[in-house]
Amino acid sequence: MKAEETTDTHTHVVIFPCPVQGHVSTMLKLAQLLSLHRFHITFITTDCIHHRLHRFGDIQALLQTHPTLQFKTFPDGLPHNHPRSGESLVDLFHSINLHAKPHIKHIVLSAKPTLTCFIGDGVFGALTVDVANEVSIPIIHFRTISASCFWTYFCVPKLFQSNQLPIRGDEDMDRVITCIPGMENVFRCRDLPSFCRGTESDIVFPMNSMAFETRETLRARALILNTFEDLEGSVLSQIRLHFPRVFTIGPLHAQLNSRQDSNPETTPSTNCVWEVDRSCVTWLDSQPLKSVIYVSFGSIATVTREKLLEIWYGLVKSKKRFLWVVRHDMDGGDRVPAELEEGTKERGFIVGWAPQEEVLAHKAVGGFLTHSGWNSTLESLAAGVPMICWPAFGDQHVNSRFVSEVCKVGLDMKDVACDRDIVERMVNDLMGHRREEFLNSAEALALLANQSVSPAGSSYSHLDHLMHYIKSLGQDII
Ligand code: UDP
Repeated sequence: MKAEETTDTHTHVVIFPCPVQGHVSTMLKLAQLLSLHRFHITFITTDCIHHRLHRFGDIQALLQTHPTLQFKTFPDGLPHNHPRSGESLVDLFHSINLHAKPHIKHIVLSAKPTLTCFIGDGVFGALTVDVANEVSIPIIHFRTISASCFWTYFCVPKLFQSNQLPIRGDEDMDRVITCIPGMENVFRCRDLPSFCRGTESDIVFPMNSMAFETRETLRARALILNTFEDLEGSVLSQIRLHFPRVFTIGPLHAQLNSRQDSNPETTPSTNCVWEVDRSCVTWLDSQPLKSVIYVSFGSIATVTREKLLEIWYGLVKSKKRFLWVVRHDMDGGDRVPAELEEGTKERGFIVGWAPQEEVLAHKAVGGFLTHSGWNSTLESLAAGVPMICWPAFGDQHVNSRFVSEVCKVGLDMKDVACDRDIVERMVNDLMGHRREEFLNSAEALALLANQSVSPAGSSYSHLDHLMHYIKSLGQDII
């Protein structure tokens, strides 16, 4: 469908992501896609994220190329110097749940032109549905996790009922989980979301728990997922038994690239909340084809100095070339062993933040050691890059199993001691002995991913359907 066919200057959508990098950049991509079709968009975020987007992203270019997009912000309620990463992220969730409602309501009520619908991050399921109901606008939830993980969260109460949970202290972590419909026998205890390593009263009942928030999506009009039908079809058909309107529009970054390419008026812009160091692209330009393993643990996970050194030794000992993102908030310390400095000078490159989509699409990159965040996973799948998965928390345990066991495009390093010999062996498996096997399956999946966002593809038409659906909500309001 061409942009003009869905052009509608009266449709106004407010979008509210959880204020962390992965959620903000994904939902901002949806905002860009809708505004390409002339939808008015009010993008709500926190002062802190907005400040960082201004400082490190390309907000000016974004606003120039998307004149129907505007930002509105509110304070997240945390002290200025709060880290808002790693384990302290939970403070951000609590603070948003406690303080955000009146701010969001105020923005929504004063929005002009009148709002057509609210696309809220389903991680704040109850908060966003309550706001929408109180101001009488239709609510659609966007979940930035995989369909498999969304479905696993949804099935958690059933897992307790059928005695597959809880995971007890002396549990056999290889016990197979048999009763997640569509994913029978795929997961072991160790592959369930990290919060499943708790009691029923921790997990299912409290407000703000992931299982609770996920069920709140039953109160939304529709669900948007950043995935594609060929990737997660069997789980999606299970989800659709409970959620009749599910739009699968991913990989969203590839969909944006695909639609922007066909629209010469737009230019790519970055939406990073960290300072991008592009020197690594110049370094990659001088490396041989598919010779480099890219290493990054996303925007939230923190790594202790001890583990950082083990990974570093493993990379150096593997004798493979590596590009590594070591964020400034997880510095390796001042004293670096001489052999690591030497090995890095010979074959490595370290930056504080990389242009990851571009890096993964670079011809020199042949593997990715990742924490298995869903955005990183999708970006790697779309670029045909096999992965070593070292999940830290949340949905990452599910994603790493999905990548290794369902897609067969990588190795799962969860729950093994993070030691230099294991890192060395895994890097050499991925980039050496089993290279062809993994590259072949990764390239086949990349083809499907990119087909899904091309004009005849499923994600492309789901986005068209989503836009028509949103417009139909506007007719209800009028
Ligand atoms: N990212 C990036 N540069 C980096 C590291 C990460 O641009 O050096 C981006 C990456 O492309 C992805 C996002 O940050 O879009 C991380 O999201 P993900 O869901 O993978 O993990 P999270 O940070 O939420 O744990």
